[in-house]
Amino acid sequence: MSGRYAPTPTSGLHLGNLRTALVAWLFARSSGRQFQLRFEDLDRDRVRDGGAVGAAQYADLAALGIDFDGEAVWQSERLGGYQSAADLLAGRCYECYCTRREIAESASAPHRDGYRPYRGTCLGLSDSERDERRAARPPALRIRADGARSAVRDYWAGEFEADVDDFVIRRNDGVWAYNFAVVVDDIAQGVDQVVRGADLLSSAPRQAWLTTVLGGSVPEYAHVPLVTDRSGKRLAKRERAVTLAELAAEGTSAAQVLALLGSSLKLCRADERVTISTLLDRFDPETIPGEPWAY
Ligand code: GLU
Repeated sequence: MSGRYAPTPTSGLHLGNLRTALVAWLFARSSGRQFQLRFEDLDRDRVRDGGAVGAAQYADLAALGIDFDGEAVWQSERLGGYQSAADLLAGRCYECYCTRREIAESASAPHRDGYRPYRGTCLGLSDSERDERRAARPPALRIRADGARSAVRDYWAGEFEADVDDFVIRRNDGVWAYNFAVVVDDIAQGVDQVVRGADLLSSAPRQAWLTTVLGGSVPEYAHVPLVTDRSGKRLAKRERAVTLAELAAEGTSAAQVLALLGSSLKLCRADERVTISTLLDRFDPETIPGEPWAY
């Protein structure tokens, strides 16, 4: 049994990321689970200096007292695992040559998170159309969901159900897609508890469905309400100090940040001196506010 924290090593973790990591750690440790770290560094467009950024993220988590079992997993070192899983799915996958624009034009309105469900355009191509399009553009790989619906149970959101579209498992630049890699890894790492930011709730039904297709057991989910600024906007890095380094430069120590995060979870006062094990002793998921935390 294991939980996990899976940051993308693109920049320093901000208070929202740290709070989610803390909640994931508290959920895992309070239920006797292991807790694993996985760096999601597949996206070469976004991840530039993954090794160094990941090391800094690790140091920040450690400064708060968040510890992990086993070595960190780097997705960029797991390419063989993704290929093997894709091989298992080969009979259900098809090539897609659609551009972003074509998808936008054929799709219904985007979902709230901007995601556009795919209408299966490339599934219906004739052989000659396929050859023609393949010559013009490297294909993405999609999995056929056959109009599935998938429901998950989330700790805060409760029952959450959604249509599963034929989503991308490998992008047309050859990079394994987030929704695919995360499922392959959660299965491989024995993760049965997924605690992460609320922005990923909409991906959970898709991922749960793929977990079942790959023969895994669907984990339990808790999508942590995000941190906003005082005006209710998602916390942005530019506007004020939000990383441990920025806060340290203003004279706020890691211990004070831990107390601040603990207070946002109703586990201590912001000015209390606490350690992470005190927070663990007091942890009760019931008391965590189900609405965003305005910082
Ligand atoms: N890598 C994702 C992020 O940094 C999290 C993925 C997950 O927890 O499933 O937002």
